[in-house]
Amino acid sequence: YDAMGEIDGGIIIYHDITAQKQAEQTLRDSAQRLQHIFAHVPVGLVCTSLDGRHLSFNQQFCDIVGYTADVMAQVTVADILHPADVAQSYGGMHATVNPHTTRLSLKKRYIHKAGHEVWVYVNSSLILQEDGTPEYFLSIVEDLTTRHAQEAEHRAMVDAEARMALLQRIIEQLPNAADLVRGADARLVLANAATAVVWNGKWEVGASLPEFIETVGTRICWPDGRPQAVAELATIQVVRTGVAVTQRQQVIRHADGTQLPILINAVPFDGEMLGWRDAQGQPERGALVTQQDVTAMQDAERVKSEFLAMAAHELRTPIGVVSGYVQLLAQTLPESEVSTEQREILSAIQVASGRLAQLANDLLDVTRLEAGHLPLQLAPLDLGVLTEHMINRIHVTAPGHQLRMRAPAKPLTVFGDTMRLEQVITNLLSNAVKYSPAGGEVVVTLMGSVRRGQAVLAVRDQGIGIPPAEQARIFGRFARAENAMAEGIMGTGLGLYLCRELMERQGGRIWFTSRLGQGTTFFIALPLATAAVPYEAAKAGAGTR
Ligand code: ADP
Repeated sequence: YDAMGEIDGGIIIYHDITAQKQAEQTLRDSAQRLQHIFAHVPVGLVCTSLDGRHLSFNQQFCDIVGYTADVMAQVTVADILHPADVAQSYGGMHATVNPHTTRLSLKKRYIHKAGHEVWVYVNSSLILQEDGTPEYFLSIVEDLTTRHAQEAEHRAMVDAEARMALLQRIIEQLPNAADLVRGADARLVLANAATAVVWNGKWEVGASLPEFIETVGTRICWPDGRPQAVAELATIQVVRTGVAVTQRQQVIRHADGTQLPILINAVPFDGEMLGWRDAQGQPERGALVTQQDVTAMQDAERVKSEFLAMAAHELRTPIGVVSGYVQLLAQTLPESEVSTEQREILSAIQVASGRLAQLANDLLDVTRLEAGHLPLQLAPLDLGVLTEHMINRIHVTAPGHQLRMRAPAKPLTVFGDTMRLEQVITNLLSNAVKYSPAGGEVVVTLMGSVRRGQAVLAVRDQGIGIPPAEQARIFGRFARAENAMAEGIMGTGLGLYLCRELMERQGGRIWFTSRLGQGTTFFIALPLATAAVPYEAAKAGAGTR
């Protein structure tokens, strides 16, 4: 100011505030970083006043209890805590704030906004002012439900890996090729070393079966040489249908022209056990597949069949000689020169040689059937006449049994091989007699069903029956039931095996029902040769009406 008190000039003072601005920026940066941390940590963070108000918190904390941030600012600790936990946690700590106990970790429950309990793990620190007076609590809140789920998932993964390792060790010990696949296209999960030998190539984990056989140029064929379509492959069928394929014979043809006869077994495998899910999150089915190279078995089987065929063939001639001469002796020796005892001996030799001839014939048939050399001559034949003929023949040898036949008046013409049908019917009739040692009635019933186009022949006896536990295997080669053997009834177990093969090759069927100790009924069915007639007749009939 001048002497008159008017402003004369001014003094300007400049402060360099760069450092201050930088400090402010640093502070803003670190506040922002803190905010980021607050917002992004995978746990709930909350600052609570000593009287239990939520001063600040992150979104994760709100999510744990299901409140929005606005509401969270209004509710208190006591509002969200499970009543049972109020006293021993915040309640206790707030009530007796003790500067010496500045940390508290415990498990407790909140009540979610939706009403359910939420287990949390809370780590609280008491924040003190500079003079040491308590100011607020800083708590880290972890949702145990989520953590448990994550831990369970991790444990399940570790378990699944351990199971897979065990499985790998187990299948490695198997003498056959074994692999485990999953999903509808059978992707490889694991395979043992023998698998590479069967396939003649390495199947990479994760590759699907169709993809793999395509790349190695392998073909999977039926025993008759027909290649199997993808949908026909045993492994694919099991993963797609869940139904096991057992003991299937097939041939694997390698790209280099070599081939292996294989017996394959594939059983469905519950992928749920290993946590397998497809892209849609659906449980995924697997299959455990074993493949056995049966080259050696087939060779042995062939040698055995050849030997059997040769033995049976060679036996027939001497047996024929024996039975021929015995018959000649029995017929030509004058009654006066033969004692009763000698007659009995002759007849015993006749019976035994007959049985031997039957055995040799059956064995020969078995070997021919298996080698595919049993030609059948199918022609129309009258089943009623044929059956009656067989009954008359059996009658002579079974005086202790009454044989009865029931048949429709009209002839039943079927397509069949006369000689082989005689063999089947004789076998059923002689079994009916043989397995009812106490005698009784044998009823033979012939029925025709035009609607089904088939004739059915039933042979019912009142004999020892077939035990239920053995019924399933009775058509097997050399299969004989315990009770038949216990009764001391002679047999080879070849008859029914041949009967089934012969019936099926004639386009027919054979089956039975049986009650132990009460009797058995065997049925055979054959297509009617006149099956087409009713249709033609109906047409003709319609024309005249
Ligand atoms: P085999 O009579 O020579 O033993 P089969 O193949 O004809 O041979 O019969 C197999 C088995 O089936 C017999 O051993 C017997 O246990 C049982 N079986 C067959 N037919 C009858 C029947 N009618 N009653 C009871 N058991 C039977």
